[in-house]
Amino acid sequence: LDLRMETVELGNRLGEGSMGTVYKARYRPTDMVMAVKTMTVDPDPAIHRQIIRELSFLRTCQSDYIVSFYGTFFDEDQSSIAMCIEYCDGGSLDAIYKRIRDRQARIGEGVLGKIAESVLRGLVYLHDQKIIHRDVKPSNILVSSKGQIKLCDFGVSGELVDSIAQTFVGTSFYMAPERIQGGGYAVQSDVWSLGLSIVEIAQNRFPFPPPGHPPLAFIELVDYIVRMPEPELHESDGWSPELCHFVAVCLTKEPSRRPSPKEMLLHPFIGRTMAASIDLQRWIREVWA
Ligand code: ADP
Ligand code: MG
Repeated sequence: LDLRMETVELGNRLGEGSMGTVYKARYRPTDMVMAVKTMTVDPDPAIHRQIIRELSFLRTCQSDYIVSFYGTFFDEDQSSIAMCIEYCDGGSLDAIYKRIRDRQARIGEGVLGKIAESVLRGLVYLHDQKIIHRDVKPSNILVSSKGQIKLCDFGVSGELVDSIAQTFVGTSFYMAPERIQGGGYAVQSDVWSLGLSIVEIAQNRFPFPPPGHPPLAFIELVDYIVRMPEPELHESDGWSPELCHFVAVCLTKEPSRRPSPKEMLLHPFIGRTMAASIDLQRWIREVWA
């Protein structure tokens, strides 16, 4: 693709994160729809070359469980970068669960199983490419109108992250305890974030602090996640023992005892999911109907 300011037409704003803004966009030469994330960066050309080098690796990533990366371009004054990626018209899981919550409903366990399985398959794929995601959370799990579930926003460009000088970039409430405490980062840390995301999507609410607890400031909340008991799902709320156990294993605080994504695929909850036939295309159509 010949990605430039002249060939990419930005459309509606899809959302905003700590790193930048995401737009729906059109690639003029072929009319292809895509998503474009724009971020303010250091205008130094040497830094741009390094970012491009690091991001070019993303173009080789191809999996049904990963959002495709098309390429990048810089704006004319070189102060912002545009990353062009596959557009997922079913939206992100944070928007989806908020929609379900507004209807006073909750997500089915079969769909939750497909989400967990897809995220794990995406993480296994990335790990085989020597990539740790580092930012698994509901807004980075996207759904296509065909019902495919895909991961986006995996951190591969250290230079890009460094050049976006902003407080708390890369610090998130989905971080595993070992990361909050400044320890090493391994594939297991992504499994913690998956467990937290599954509990959030199941309960239609971010699990920290627990219901009834007074609100916490940023640092207090981060400290709370390290010190307090892990969130859980309960059979008394109608969740299966397999699902409750699955999230408990994901949310093992001690990283050396937490399984890798590959090991989590062997969990009985995933075994049950793989045996079930769940129509995700129908599900996503009903969510947005
Ligand atoms: P965050 O992930 O922290 O919410 P982002 O800037 O990464 O912030 O994304 C902002 C929003 O844009 C997301 O919540 C998501 O709903 C939407 N979005 C991001 N990428 C895509 C995409 N490829 N297709 C459709 N929507 C997207
Ligand atoms: Mg994101």
